[in-house]
Amino acid sequence: MFSRNDFRPKVSIVTGGASGIGLEIARELHRRGSHVVLADLDEVKAKSAADDLGARASAAQVDVSDAEAVRALVDSVVAEHGRLDVMVNNAGVAVGGLLEELDQRHWDKALDVNLRGVINGVMAAYPHLTRQGSGHILNTASLAGLIPAPAMLPYTTTKHAVVGLSTALRAEAASLGVKVSVLCPGFVDTPLLDEVYAAPDSFGGSSVRNRVRLLQPKFLTPELTAQRAVDGLASNKAVIPVGVFAHMTWRALRYLPPVA
Ligand code: NAD
Repeated sequence: MFSRNDFRPKVSIVTGGASGIGLEIARELHRRGSHVVLADLDEVKAKSAADDLGARASAAQVDVSDAEAVRALVDSVVAEHGRLDVMVNNAGVAVGGLLEELDQRHWDKALDVNLRGVINGVMAAYPHLTRQGSGHILNTASLAGLIPAPAMLPYTTTKHAVVGLSTALRAEAASLGVKVSVLCPGFVDTPLLDEVYAAPDSFGGSSVRNRVRLLQPKFLTPELTAQRAVDGLASNKAVIPVGVFAHMTWRALRYLPPVA
């Protein structure tokens, strides 16, 4: 019988692999024997993370919103390694705000990175995976892809779209041997939370990250999130929710007094 430990991909690409959840997913895939390519906008961090991993890890600078660049990266990895087993479209940005606080730049940023970034990764990897007749695509959405995150309209919109894209693609990819999953974490302790709720006064001047730490003593770590993500991949889950009860936190954050 297939066990989760039998999941041993050989070549994986993780976008947003220099930090947070992406970095931990890359580490987890690496632990399972995969060569991992940490693809990130931040070349310096990606390189340093790949150096830490050592053998079977490399770094690539890419802006996921640039379709040509993503395609070139994926093609070059396949040309070098002869295959691709896991494509993790994980890079994302937290773009928040109430509708009246938003302008076109907010929408463009969220759409370009969170949605087009995932589409670009899917479009670049899919032909290789279908040709092989095997492989996995893991797209990182969010709990905000399943329920609305208050005051984060562009984020919620793009993450819902990533869930839709992933579940719809899963159906058509299955007959070609390709597995598609979508990761939906609640709050995870990463630098991305520092971007949440751009208006500093939204929560009495205290960062959302600090408040989540207070509310959730067992704050979801990127390590745990990555383990669940890769276990979910191994057992071919369609949707991989992590920390689903965190949605209570969204509400509670609003009512807390300022934190020093
Ligand atoms: P993070 O900020 O630690 O990591 C995001 C990485 O993406 C960074 O290394 C950044 O340089 C990279 N990146 C940003 N824009 C890019 C671009 N245009 N091209 C390439 N790389 C780019 O954040 P994280 O929390 O690890 O976020 C990873 C994913 O998880 C995101 O899609 C995010 O929306 C999602 N997520 C995060 C949380 C959370 O609470 N942290 C919850 C749910 C979902």
